This record gives sequence, structure tokens and C-alpha cells, in this order.
Amino acid sequence: MQIKSDNEGVGPQLHIATPLEIRAGKTTDIYFVRTHEIIEKKGLDRPVKAEFIAKGFHDDWKWAVFCGLEEILSLVEGMPLTIRALPEGTVFSSYEPVMEIEGNYKDFCLLETAILGLMCQSSGVATKAARCKKAAEERPVLSFGARRVHPSLTPMVDRSAYIGGCDGISAVKGAELLGIKPTGTMPHALILLIGDTVKAAQAFDEVVEPDVGRVVLIDTFNDEKFEALRLAEALKEKLYGIRLDTPSSRRGNLPRMIEEIRWELDIRGFSHVKIFVSGGMDEYKILDLNPYVDAYGVGTSISNAPVVDFSMDIIEISGQAVAKKGKMSGSKQLYRCPKCFKDQVVYLKKDIDDLSCECGGVIEPLLTPVMTGGRILNSAPSPKKIREYVLSQLEHFEM
Ligand SMILES: [Zn+2]
Repeated sequence: MQIKSDNEGVGPQLHIATPLEIRAGKTTDIYFVRTHEIIEKKGLDRPVKAEFIAKGFHDDWKWAVFCGLEEILSLVEGMPLTIRALPEGTVFSSYEPVMEIEGNYKDFCLLETAILGLMCQSSGVATKAARCKKAAEERPVLSFGARRVHPSLTPMVDRSAYIGGCDGISAVKGAELLGIKPTGTMPHALILLIGDTVKAAQAFDEVVEPDVGRVVLIDTFNDEKFEALRLAEALKEKLYGIRLDTPSSRRGNLPRMIEEIRWELDIRGFSHVKIFVSGGMDEYKILDLNPYVDAYGVGTSISNAPVVDFSMDIIEISGQAVAKKGKMSGSKQLYRCPKCFKDQVVYLKKDIDDLSCECGGVIEPLLTPVMTGGRILNSAPSPKKIREYVLSQLEHFEM
């Protein structure tokens, strides 16, 4: 079979913008193109500072995870811009500035749409992943939602899900980017093609490399409890886990069903068999199932998470603090006490004499320079490091 090489501009094609087109401003909103033209023709360009904040979050979210910085820096690298930002992975609250761009407005107005798109979506995915991981506590959460998004976005979604706290991700390209092994069990298709759950498990065991855990789907043909027991009898200690992906029409009382399966496995000496659940999972269902479940596969709720509604606003023009109504003008710093996690937003030009927090901790500035004149200042921390940073903060934030 010959694989079509790339878009040739005729016939059906993938509807994506290339990195070159994004950098060239092709994905911008048209009103920025017109603004750019007016500024140029009228000689209105001026140095500005613009900040990125979210005024609120989706639903009952009280905080969010800042994500997308690496892509944003990649997008604007080489442009005459100076940027301060929170470290990627910082858990932040509404009205806290997460990033500030300094430069001539004309130099970056065509990229506002793209920068916001990168920041809003990846932060949404990372936040939902963090909420699921916080709910699951020490139980692994695996991101299985690649199939729910445009494939060109899969690496971004997987990286954001991993950074937010997922223990593994399923798609090959995302795993390559993260430097981890992709995670997965088996699809219903394998069991349907073989015609029997135990035979499918045995085929998997024969063919797949031995370091991959034998986790077998038990909801394809028969009752989950009896399939679990049949599998455990057949594979014994080789069976690492079972996965329930039971369709919603057959769920009845899922926690009760899993409790029963756990009981039946345990009394027959199969306590080593872990129970995985997938299908329609989110942080609320995870909280309900925690007493009986060892690991979760989460798809749509993470990959298609609500976005964080950041906006970019000018807060300074030619050194003078100015902002539209509803926004506070001037360049700011976000201080956090690493002991009690209390935050405060402070006008940047104001000297802070006392860095002590009422809890006894010493407050620290979180917005730090990440780009000067288009030059990226530090190499990006690894996704693993960013993920550890997220997890270290989560215990200080309430769901
Ligand atoms: Zn404190």
C-alpha cells in the first residue's frame, strides 16, 4: 500500500495549518490583520506590554495548570520580544498573570490568536488531567483520548495530559515526544476477531513482548465477573489485570459490580489481579470508584477538556500603565509563599521590602524572564520534571 505523502493542494486533504503557516500568522483572526495594516500605514506602532490572565474557570474549577509555554516560545523564537512567564506546570488562580509579552505591538499582534490557542487548550487538558490524578490519588491514570481529537493535535494533548499528572498516554507519537513508552491494553476488536476472551488473552501473551502487563478486557461477550474468573484461572499469575469498559447501557451499578468482582477474585487467591476501568471516566466517577479500582483509563474528559479562557490585554504603552476597563493596568509580579501557598499579585515597579509571609514562609516571585529579544533564556525542563512540579503542588489545592 502506498501512503499519500502530503498535501498536494488538490483533492481531499488534511485540514491543518503547518508550523510555518502558524508562525506567519495565517491562523490569526482577520481583525488583527486589519489592525496591523492600520498601525503600519498610520505609523502608530509603539512598545507595549501585554499580559495573559484568566478571569475565571470552567464549571467548579478553582484553579488551573499553566501549560503550553514551550510551544509558545518555539512559535515566537527569533522575534524581537521579551517574555516573562510562570514556569510551565504552575497551578494558578483566576486573575493571576501567567505570562507577559513586551515588544512593539506590530511585531506580535498577528500571533495573539495562535498564542492564546496554544495556551488555552493545553492548559485545559493539563488541568483536567491534574483533577483526575488528584481524585485517583496513587492509582495510575492513563490518557486514552487520542481518538477524540484531530490527529495532528495528539502529541500536544498527550504531553499536556502527562504534564497534568497522567501516568501514561496511549498514542505512539506523543510517547516519542515525551520519551516514555506508550501504554495500552487490548481493543474489543482483538477479542471479537478471536472469538473468545481467554483465547485472545493467550494470543496476546504469546505475541506481545513480556514487559507489557497482561491486562485483558472482560466485557466483550459475557458477564464481567465470570470472564474475570475464567481468565484468572487460565492465566494465573501471568494475568496482571482486567479492564472493564462496560457500555453504559449495561452498567447498572458499576461500583457494586466491581466490588463483587474484587471479592470473587480475592477469595480464590487472585488478589494480584488489578482492576482497570475505562469508558466515560472523569474526576467525579473516579472518586466514586476509588474503593474498588486500581487504575483508570480516561479518554474524552481529558483529551477534550474545557479550555482555560485566557485573554491577552495591553497593560502598558510606551512605559505608561494603561488598560481597558475591567483590567488592572501595569506590569505585575505574582508572589507565592512556598509554605502555605498563599499568592499575591503586586505592581512590578513597587519595591517589596518585606518578603515574609504571615505563616513564617518567605514569598517568592513566580513570573521570571524566559525570553529576551527573541532568545530563549533557559532550556525547557523535561515533561517528567514539569509533571513532578504539578504533582508537588496539587496537595496544596482543593478540588
Ligand atoms: Zn505563607
